[in-house]
Amino acid sequence: MPPETITIFQKGFNYSQDGPGNRLVYHLQGCNMACRWCANPEGIPDQPPLMAVKSPLLDVVCPHGAVKGGVLDRTLCRTCEGRECVTVHKNDGLVCRGITVPVETLAEEAGRSRGMFFDGGGVTLTGGEPTRQYDGVKALLARLKAEGIDTAMETNGTHPDLPALFPLIDTLMMDFKHPDSGVHKAFTGVGNEMIRQNVRRAAQSHPRVQLRVPMVNGFNVGEAELEGFLRFFDGLKTEGLPCENVTLEFLRYHEFGRQKWEQCGWEYRMENAQVPGEWVRRYEEAFRQAGFTVVHT
Ligand code: SF4
Repeated sequence: MPPETITIFQKGFNYSQDGPGNRLVYHLQGCNMACRWCANPEGIPDQPPLMAVKSPLLDVVCPHGAVKGGVLDRTLCRTCEGRECVTVHKNDGLVCRGITVPVETLAEEAGRSRGMFFDGGGVTLTGGEPTRQYDGVKALLARLKAEGIDTAMETNGTHPDLPALFPLIDTLMMDFKHPDSGVHKAFTGVGNEMIRQNVRRAAQSHPRVQLRVPMVNGFNVGEAELEGFLRFFDGLKTEGLPCENVTLEFLRYHEFGRQKWEQCGWEYRMENAQVPGEWVRRYEEAFRQAGFTVVHT
């Protein structure tokens, strides 16, 4: 059997929203959602996209004539298999950030980082959506756990076998974007039924669950939406889940991803999505009053 591999499009260190302590963070390629506000849109396709990060581009980087007068016409790129602009004519204008590496390589890197860096932290898998590469992720998490390295994973909660990974994840970070499945699907491409189920399973059996609600004006901010969120989370307690292992965090919309959408050649479709601070405080207060632990990481 060939060794498990994982495709990542970014790695970095130490961000407070990526779990406890100093952390080595891997962003995994591919996501089954396509949220319009995504801050890492280059991580959405299973195939890492071509990003035009500088302008003008050099015409010579494309042997097929897709770059003319410094401007890229992506029509040719759609069927280009060689991608010589990034495989042969290395340049700093057109880039493709995805690389595929053996699980073993990542595990060894994590082992080296433990000695000099972690200090109470560990490794975080985020995305994209890590469960899109389920087998590789399972193998990596198992390897890290076997070496006593703290693990965290950020997921959109849609994988039906997510609970099988719970014993391998020390901190589970999950989004809960909207209580209504139809609206969820309209804005992300996927309904929320499996997410609701996985939130229940996590509340029931995972020791450390950090649920996150990205607040986006025009999507999930308003009285009716707040009521829907509370109804779902109150329902967990009614079902007998104490939720003492669960924290909630409300994250305000930001436009950090706008430039990357444009670099990938895609339209950024968010308008007037900023959320006034008083709405964030309103959501936080409502959940505190309902007996939930609200945090800021
Ligand atoms: S992907 Fe292919 S067609 Fe597009 S710029 Fe690169 S080499 Fe040219």
